Amino acid sequence: MSLAAEKTIGTANPVASAGEAGSLILVIEDDAALLKLIEKCLTAIGHRTWGVTGGEAALTWLETHSPNLMLLDYSLPDMRGEQILQCLEARGKRVPFVVATGHGNESVAVEMMKRGAHDYLVKGSALMKLLPAVVDRALERERQAERLIETEEELRQAHDELEQRVEQRTAELAEVNRRLLVEMEERRLAEERSQQHLAELAHVARLSTMGEMVAELAHELNQPLSAISSYAQACKRLLDSGEGNHGEELSSSLGQVVEQANRAGEIIRRVRRFVAKNTPSEEAIDVNAMIRDVAGVMAFDARSVKAEVVTALTEPLPPVVGDRIQIEQVLVNLMRNGFEALRESPREPRQVTVHTAFDGRRHIVIDVHDNGRGIPPDVLDRVFDRFFTTKPDGMGMGLAISRSIVENHGGTLWATPAAEGGAAFHFTLPIETGELDRGH
Ligand code: ADP
Repeated sequence: MSLAAEKTIGTANPVASAGEAGSLILVIEDDAALLKLIEKCLTAIGHRTWGVTGGEAALTWLETHSPNLMLLDYSLPDMRGEQILQCLEARGKRVPFVVATGHGNESVAVEMMKRGAHDYLVKGSALMKLLPAVVDRALERERQAERLIETEEELRQAHDELEQRVEQRTAELAEVNRRLLVEMEERRLAEERSQQHLAELAHVARLSTMGEMVAELAHELNQPLSAISSYAQACKRLLDSGEGNHGEELSSSLGQVVEQANRAGEIIRRVRRFVAKNTPSEEAIDVNAMIRDVAGVMAFDARSVKAEVVTALTEPLPPVVGDRIQIEQVLVNLMRNGFEALRESPREPRQVTVHTAFDGRRHIVIDVHDNGRGIPPDVLDRVFDRFFTTKPDGMGMGLAISRSIVENHGGTLWATPAAEGGAAFHFTLPIETGELDRGH
């Protein structure tokens, strides 16, 4: 160790900060006298120094210390300044430095500036004069660089934090989105279940209609059956009489038997069609013919409340497409509600009117209105709610089911007060596409 290095100088921290007052400066100078002068100069301006006269001593000291600056004499007896830098580089240690060169060695100074020196000093009479300013400038630059690194680090952290927040927010949004999708799916399933339920209820409603229709069926079938029986008895009598030549009478009576049997068959077929639980089918439907059919089936209900069914059907109408059984169900629901509204009505005659029209564009409009007690305005919208009923034994499902059937067919069902004081229900059904092209 050099002479200069043996002395203790201040309290040299192993790691110093360029920001502190009194920075720690390693002075490497082989000329011991000059070294002393330099150290004196630097301590005079408030810095602490550690002086060494050779490269080896400097590297040893640097193993355990990190000065704020190193004043590096380029040509040392044991090595050149450049080698010290290489060794430090190999250790991965960066020490800010200012290089000092002899006269005529300015090119070396330039080279060292390229290698990262903050500044350079040329030994000579001006050295001591320039030294404080050069050292302080280098220290200041180093402080600035440190601040820059700190700011950059803060910025990087802020950026990382922001990224993290964005990631977190994105994840939260994705979670919300996922939950929304699950909820939508649940709602869709619930809607599907409720539609299924309505379809089942529609079937139940048809079956309960069926109970009443059995009475109507018995009543209706009675007529052709007794006619068949009468004609058959007449035929038997003619044959039993033994008199010949009744061919014409026999043929006419048997013709009546056939006709009445066909009529009975038609009644049964109509009922069977009505009760069948088909999956919704798509067929072209002649709405007017269907209304006549349903009105026929409902004749018994009408009679039971002393009402009549009036039809006011626009002819011809373009066909609609849909499930005939389901649409019949809508008509039955609306007509029965009409009959029930007429049950206690003082108005005469009690009428349920079914009216059809074509809106001239895409829909058939069917109106079912009665001259019964009507619907109070405050419940007009609620009548379509499930389980809304004002009847002691009502289910409150008829209109809800009807609306769902009509909407499934692409139409709408709504209620208004009827002109003559009762209730009017209207529903639309889209006509078969292609009909438009045929000029309807
Ligand atoms: P329900 O007939 O089982 O009560 P609906 O859904 O068919 O179920 O009808 C719901 C309610 O709407 C009825 O209880 C009744 O108050 C009212 N309503 C329906 N149709 C008529 C009508 N033609 N006149 C008066 N009120 C009606």
